[in-house]
Amino acid sequence: MTLVLGFIEFLNKEKTFKPKKKFSPGTLRYSLHKQAEASLTSGIKLSEAVKLPFNENLDDWIAVHVVDFFNRTNLIYGVVTSYCVPESCPTMSGGTKYEYFWADGKHYRKPTALPAPKYISLLMDWVEDQINDDTVFPTTTDIPFPKNFQNRCKKILARLFRVFVHVYIHHYDKLVETGAEPHVNACYKHFYYFVREFDLVREQEFEPLEELTKRICKD
Ligand code: ZN
Repeated sequence: MTLVLGFIEFLNKEKTFKPKKKFSPGTLRYSLHKQAEASLTSGIKLSEAVKLPFNENLDDWIAVHVVDFFNRTNLIYGVVTSYCVPESCPTMSGGTKYEYFWADGKHYRKPTALPAPKYISLLMDWVEDQINDDTVFPTTTDIPFPKNFQNRCKKILARLFRVFVHVYIHHYDKLVETGAEPHVNACYKHFYYFVREFDLVREQEFEPLEELTKRICKD
């Protein structure tokens, strides 16, 4: 599991695309976050490490991971952001077969084709707004999670997955060139095992990265 540690060191040197979201020390979520981090570096299989710890609440466990995946996806995109411009990536695609359209119910009421950097920027802002909203991601245990919390997280994770799709398919050379590839693979693998464990992203969403998933997610 040295890759995970290497990943953190690697990313700490990099500029983030959006500011990192932190957990406040002393809170339940901070200790769960630390617990999840510790199990990743303990050498146990990822398929085991993602399981809900005994006596913990599933919503808390999911919240911690959604924030963590947001931070890490944000850092990963930070690696390629200067190469991902409207000229190189006029659509939010994953190869020629897949294209994603943006809709947020506010400014984009209908699914809209956008250049990848615009799409990803809107996507990250949309996730960040929810993570920073105490009624969605409560910061204390006095505030309950909303009833639709898991559904909201499913949507967030499905959208974060699209960043992996775009980065892997369109910016793979930059991942290799910058030495980020093994770190991104480690993060993708963690993401994959986590969402599969709790069935948070539909199987068909993984189609664009089917080959890669088969190659790297075989614990
Ligand atoms: Zn791009």
